[in-house]
Amino acid sequence: MAARERVMVGGVPVGGGAPVVVQSMTNTHTDDVEATLGQVRALATAGAQLVRVAVPDAAGAKAFGTLVAESPVPLIADVHFDHALAVAAVGAGAAGVRINPGNIGGRDEVREVVEAAKEHGAVIRIGVNSGSLQRDLREMEERDPAGALVESAVRYCAMLEDLDFTAIKVSAKSSSPLITIRANRLLAERIPYPLHLGVTEAGTRWAGTIRSAVALGVLLAEGVGDTIRVSLTGDPVEEVRVALEILRTLELAPRGPRVISCPTCGRTRVDLEPLALEVERRLEESGLDLEVAVMGCIVNGPGEARKADFGIAGGDGEGVVFARGRPVCKVPQSELVDALFEAIASRGAAPSEQ
Ligand code: SF4
Repeated sequence: MAARERVMVGGVPVGGGAPVVVQSMTNTHTDDVEATLGQVRALATAGAQLVRVAVPDAAGAKAFGTLVAESPVPLIADVHFDHALAVAAVGAGAAGVRINPGNIGGRDEVREVVEAAKEHGAVIRIGVNSGSLQRDLREMEERDPAGALVESAVRYCAMLEDLDFTAIKVSAKSSSPLITIRANRLLAERIPYPLHLGVTEAGTRWAGTIRSAVALGVLLAEGVGDTIRVSLTGDPVEEVRVALEILRTLELAPRGPRVISCPTCGRTRVDLEPLALEVERRLEESGLDLEVAVMGCIVNGPGEARKADFGIAGGDGEGVVFARGRPVCKVPQSELVDALFEAIASRGAAPSEQ
């Protein structure tokens, strides 16, 4: 079940029935304002609605105000260990701050962050991870890792509630998709606050995409989760592409450009993978809200993909362009992709909303 409470992160609603929000995190040095802003803009262009930025030191906190002023989307400060950096980032206009109250100092330090958040209208994300739990929960973690994450998060929620603060988001992350699934299912039953989903240290592009898609896909399909971040080792723009694809797959976001392609078989007489990759690249660039099929043979391809808006089917030296399963033209293989996009352009497909 999605969170009952809604918070506003800058102008972006999270929880309370709002559409699931995609976020990512920069990996530039935050005090390199030009590089960081460049990445924030690239993430926003790719579809991120919120961007998190690490504030590891005073130079990062100092840069934060400029980043906020120039950013096309609300920024969230990610702070560990030093509550003064969280206070500074919130004062500089962070729409939210992500802390683990357990490593930011004691109750007094947390209170200072809360007071700053109240004054500036910022949201606090309580982020608990496996590996950074309170000492008394470590034994519980051995036998019930998901339960320990939940217990930790619930305690920190109570701490903020005691300080009369409820503009809260919560994340409970593990590098194990199964623990992430269990923990967030439990959290959704225990607290009313929006849940930020993610698998931490998910891995490289290939493995991390699969682990994130499995964990986030299961939870979102059950209605658990209000905002997501896919963590990948590499360019964070890829994180946004994967996150959007997860939401589209679950029909939680507008469909957007979508390429389907056949696995090929003994009938195939064309090198299909480069064709599919080229169509995918050009369709994504176009932003058109279309499903396009890339099929390996003329005999079965158009029929197998008749639900696609458009498609191509490769043959032996030549191929066909088809629309809704019906042939539009037959051209030499080398002209197939261009002919496809000419057919799409002549039928005036509309760009998708993101
Ligand atoms: Fe095989 Fe043709 Fe089907 Fe592709 S479309 S899997 S080549 S039969």
